[in-house]
Amino acid sequence: MTVRDLPPVDDLTGQQQRGVHCVWCSVALANGTARDLGPRPVDAHGTSALWFPRCCPICWKGHGQ
Ligand SMILES: [Zn+2]
Repeated sequence: MTVRDLPPVDDLTGQQQRGVHCVWCSVALANGTARDLGPRPVDAHGTSALWFPRCCPICWKGHGQ
């Protein structure tokens, strides 16, 4: 799976970084409909970590695949 146009992690809220809100439109996600985009490496300030973006079904159609 390839996900295009993932926003820069520094621009996201904590809730978006944790997968509570859609990474693109910030809508609150329900577990049944959220699309897991998979772990992403973060390269912020020389520290490597992972974040776990998720998105809503509407954004999935526009950005996913
Ligand atoms: Zn969305």
